[in-house]
Amino acid sequence: MEIVCLDLEGVLIPEIWINFAEKTGIEALKRTTRDEPDYDVLMRYRLDILDKHGLKMADIQGVIDSLGPLEGAHEFVTKLREEFQVVILSDTFYEFAEPMMRQLDWPILFCHRLIVDENDRVADYKLRLTDHKRKAVEAFKKLNFFTIAAGDSYNDTTMLGEADCGILFSAPDNVIAEFPQFKTAFEYDELMAHIKEASPRF
Ligand SMILES: [Mg+2]
Repeated sequence: MEIVCLDLEGVLIPEIWINFAEKTGIEALKRTTRDEPDYDVLMRYRLDILDKHGLKMADIQGVIDSLGPLEGAHEFVTKLREEFQVVILSDTFYEFAEPMMRQLDWPILFCHRLIVDENDRVADYKLRLTDHKRKAVEAFKKLNFFTIAAGDSYNDTTMLGEADCGILFSAPDNVIAEFPQFKTAFEYDELMAHIKEASPRF
């Protein structure tokens, strides 16, 4: 029995913060973990900016809703779910992902939570578990699943390494060069072919 674990941003949907910054014109929100490696500092900074611009949860979700999943993502996930058990493992937050998950017909998602106060203001955030992508794959293996994982970035590499088969999807050149042990794919057809190839059932 196989389970496919997919990263979300960069694999099925656009990078939320970067696209949110572009859509709203708030340049300061383009800061990423590359500019600020301390995730907590980065998140406090982001929440502060949302506050300063008076952006409530409903405004944020409206912007995210207008982004939509990546082209072909809905069809890919739908086909994949017909053949495999599929879980999305992401470091985003349920509240941000919700509009996209609706457009993807609600696949299973493990991620983190934002804390929204009674005025719909994003007050804080809560990480469910650190390194949860890798830990989820490890747990699925203990449940006797054959695990196939795909992601696009550094924060996926421990998950890909833990999985029986790890695939880099649309990853930048530096990540591909640094992790030559993983298969690579750039199109959904190619990714589907790698997944089936790895699966003992096909
Ligand atoms: Mg990603």
